[in-house]
Amino acid sequence: MRVGRAAGQTDTGRRRRQNEDAFVCEPPLFAVADGMGGAQAGELASRLAAAAIEEGGVAIQGEEGVAGVVRTANARIFEHSVRDPNAAGMGTTATVALVDEEAETATLAHVGDSRAYRYRDGLLEQLTTDHSLVGELVRSGRLTEDEAAVHPHRSVITRALGTEADVDVDTLTIDLRAGDLVLLCSDGLSAMVREDEIVRLLEAARSDPHDAAAALIAAANAAGGEDNVTVVLFELAEGEPPSRPAQTVPALRDDTTSESQPVPEADANGDDVSRHGAGKGGRWPALLLLLAILAVAAFLLWWSLVR
Ligand code: MN
Repeated sequence: MRVGRAAGQTDTGRRRRQNEDAFVCEPPLFAVADGMGGAQAGELASRLAAAAIEEGGVAIQGEEGVAGVVRTANARIFEHSVRDPNAAGMGTTATVALVDEEAETATLAHVGDSRAYRYRDGLLEQLTTDHSLVGELVRSGRLTEDEAAVHPHRSVITRALGTEADVDVDTLTIDLRAGDLVLLCSDGLSAMVREDEIVRLLEAARSDPHDAAAALIAAANAAGGEDNVTVVLFELAEGEPPSRPAQTVPALRDDTTSESQPVPEADANGDDVSRHGAGKGGRWPALLLLLAILAVAAFLLWWSLVR
């Protein structure tokens, strides 16, 4: 078994002015983060989370490893919020899936109400437990699913990354097989589109995860688009796992650069946004280093010629 095609898409929705969601779609590593906080702080929190997950994610294994990456993301966001008064109190959800193709499993870690689902044989199974006020009321039997769906405080989460120095991370390991789909999404999808409708759209666009992701985002917007909506969708296929390239050297990444990068605008049509701003920002130091090496090489060449 191997990870087949994968798609990550995000959209601002129809009510919000900014997109505070971020995602990682770097097979075999996937994540969704839904930020919160005043001004630009929610965007910053989700992008810091996505960058930390992407940076640490591929080199780790197992539930402890994935939870550790999420805790590292938590620490970075918290430290930033303590330093920067404009970012005080910012936070984000994070739902991470790391596929082990050899073991035919995925390790999930999550904090907040962004969800992970496995779709198999026509059944959509929610893998994560919402860390939200209404989620807890439903679990304790004091609210029905239908009441939760329209509850005025349905977006209040009870756990977030970045709001405290430490965080409790839920983890689980699931089995996977060829033909499965795994869906990660922010509540902009799960609060707007019923699960039977999600199933219908996954089936209708079964041949292409990009089409399916676009259809899910379109459905969230058709239902009102009250929140930013993010979908990461990947399929499991038959075949040998590919040999995956080693991760880029983390030392070349510069957090201060990535934090000051302008945030990319989500495409209103739900087209792919090339991952997230922080990830793109992280490449600049490597590019500068390459330019510096080229400059030194050119100088040495010139020096050898004039001597
Ligand atoms: Mn949201």
